[in-house]
Amino acid sequence: MKIPQNIIDQIKYQADIVDVIGEYVHLKKAGNRHVGLCPFHEDKKTPSFSVSGDIGVYHCFGCKKSGNVFSFLKDYLGLSFNESVEYLAKRYNIIIPSVEEKSESSSRTDLAFKALKISAEFFNKLLYTKEADIAIKYFKKRDFSDNLIAQFLLGYSPDSYDKLNKYLSQYQIDEQSMIDSGLLVVREDGKKYDRFRGRAMFAIKDIIGRVIGFGARQITDEPDQPKYINSPQSLVYDKSKVLYGLYEAKNAIRNEKSAILVEGYADTLTLHQSDIRNVVATSGTAFTQDQLNLLGRYTKSLFLVFDSDSAGKKATDRGIELALENGFEVKIARLPAGEDPDSLVRNNGPEPFRYHIANAVNFIDYMANEIKKEGAMDNPSSKADAVRSIVSLISKIPDMLQHDFYLSRIADIFDLSENQLKLIYNEKQELVNKAKKNIDSNKIQPDLKQLSEVQNERIINDEFVIDLEEILPEEKLVLQYALQGPKIFNYILNDLNLKESNFLSETGKLIYSIILEYSDSLNITQELTDDETINAKILSSITELAISILKPSENWEKFGSELKDPDYKKVLKDAKTRLELIYIDNELAEIRNMMKIADNDHQDRLLIRQSELIRKKDSLLSQLVN
Ligand SMILES: [Zn+2]
Repeated sequence: MKIPQNIIDQIKYQADIVDVIGEYVHLKKAGNRHVGLCPFHEDKKTPSFSVSGDIGVYHCFGCKKSGNVFSFLKDYLGLSFNESVEYLAKRYNIIIPSVEEKSESSSRTDLAFKALKISAEFFNKLLYTKEADIAIKYFKKRDFSDNLIAQFLLGYSPDSYDKLNKYLSQYQIDEQSMIDSGLLVVREDGKKYDRFRGRAMFAIKDIIGRVIGFGARQITDEPDQPKYINSPQSLVYDKSKVLYGLYEAKNAIRNEKSAILVEGYADTLTLHQSDIRNVVATSGTAFTQDQLNLLGRYTKSLFLVFDSDSAGKKATDRGIELALENGFEVKIARLPAGEDPDSLVRNNGPEPFRYHIANAVNFIDYMANEIKKEGAMDNPSSKADAVRSIVSLISKIPDMLQHDFYLSRIADIFDLSENQLKLIYNEKQELVNKAKKNIDSNKIQPDLKQLSEVQNERIINDEFVIDLEEILPEEKLVLQYALQGPKIFNYILNDLNLKESNFLSETGKLIYSIILEYSDSLNITQELTDDETINAKILSSITELAISILKPSENWEKFGSELKDPDYKKVLKDAKTRLELIYIDNELAEIRNMMKIADNDHQDRLLIRQSELIRKKDSLLSQLVN
C-alpha cells in the first residue's frame, strides 16, 4: 500500500517522539529535552540517550545512534516504514485513505494482516448472535466483561466449513491470503475449509496491536477434539516470538517494573480484569529466547506463575534458566495445588493471587523447596546433584556480583561449607567461560547487530569522517542555534548574513553547507534524517549538535559577556564577531611571519594591512563589550 505523502507529513507533525519513545525507554525531563538509558547499547549508569520533542529527534552520545520517530520504530521495533506509519496513525487517530496500488512484495503480508483483522472483528461480532450462545456462556462463566471481550477481541468461530471464507470473500480477500494467514486449511485432495470451527476465539496480537493469529478453545463436549487449536506458523505469525497479552500489558509492565508470566489465555484475561495487568502468557509454547527478548524491552524483572503439574514444573525450570542467563531477576510464585491463576482469582478474588506474588521466592529457595519435596535432601548423592545444578544456574548469571550472594544462600540451605561450594562453582565457571568464548566469536548482541545493519544501509563514505572536536566553540554554538528552528535560522542567514566562509574549521564549513542546502526546511534535522543519501556519521554529528544543551562556549567569560538569560540574537552576533576576531588574529600572525622575509615595499603594504586589521579588531572588540 502506498501511503500519500500528505498523510506521512501529518503523522510526522502530530507524532510526539517523546511520547512514542517513552513507551519503550524510561525518559526523564532534563531542560528542553528528555534523557534516558540508551536502548541501542549497554547503557548502565549514566543516561546517554537524549530525545528532543521540539526537534523530533533522538541522539545517543554514547553509541552515536540517532534518528527521528520513524527510524526509532524501524530500528527498535523492527517495523517497516509503512508499518511505522500505520502504527503512528493508529496511535494518533489519523485515518490513512486506502489507495488502490498494490506493490507485490508487501501486499501479501498486508493482505494476510487484513484477513486476520477482518476475521477477528467477525468472530467478535458473531459472539453476540444466537449461534454463539455456547461461546458467550463460556466467557461469561469466567466473568469476562463486555469491555474485556472487546479489548482483547474475543469471539466465536462459526461451526461451519466455509462461513469465514465466504465472509472474507466479500472484502476481496482471496484464498491465498486466507491460507497465508492460517485461516484456511488445504486438504491433501485440494479441498479447502475454515480452520477454526465452533470454538471460543482468542485473538493474538503483536506488539503494535495487529491481529497475527488465534488461539481457539473447544467449548463443546465432543470427544477426540483438541482442547486448543492455535494458528499455524504463517507469513505473519511465529508463535515463538509472541507473548499473549503483551500489547495490552506493556504499559502496566513498565509501571509495575515487572512482568508476570502465566500459562494460558484465561489466566491472562482473568488477572487483567482483576486489575493485575502486567501479565503475559506463553500460550501453549515453551518459553523462548525471542519471547524473553521481547519482554526485556519493558522490564528485567519476571515472576513465573506456572501450573503445579509436571509440565508446569518443567516450564518453570526452563523459564528460570533462560531468565537468569539473560540477566533477568526471576521470582517464582507457587499457587496452591490444583489451582491456576484463573481458578484462584475466580473463586477467591485477586487478593490471594497478590499474596502469592508478594511472597514469590528467588530461584534458589524455589529449587531447594522442590528438592526437599522430592525427599532428595536425605540422600547425599542426590543432594550433591541438586547443589551442582543450582550452582550451574548461578554461574550463568551475567552479573558476577550476584554470585557470592546466591552461593552463601545455598550454603545456608544445604548446610554446606563455602569452601566446598567454591570448588563446585569454580568447576562450573570454567565451563561457562569456555562456552562463552565459543559464543562470542560468532555471535553479536541482537541490538548491536541490528544497529550495524541499519548503518550499513546508509552510504558510508570515509572521506566524510566528521570530527566534532575540531569545531571551534563559537562555530558549534552557531550550528546548534541554526538547528533549533526556522526563526533562529532565518536570523542567522538573513540578518546576521553568516556565510560558509565565516567558519574557520573544515568540519564547521561542511556542516554549515549542508544546513544551507536545507534552508527552506522547517525542521532541518528531521529532513536530514529522512534523506537516505546523507552519510550516517554526518547525520549523527548534526543530530548531536541539534540535541546538545545550548551553552555559551568556554571562552565566553574571557570576553566578559553577560549571559544569564541568553538572548539568541546577542549570543549569535557575539559568536560571529568572535569568529571574525579569530580570523583577524590568524591573519595578523601570518603578517608577523611575512614581515621577517618581506622586502621594503612588501613590508609597507603589510604594515598598512596590519593597521587596518588592528582598527577592525578594536571596533569588533568594542561591539562585544556593548
Ligand atoms: Zn547508545
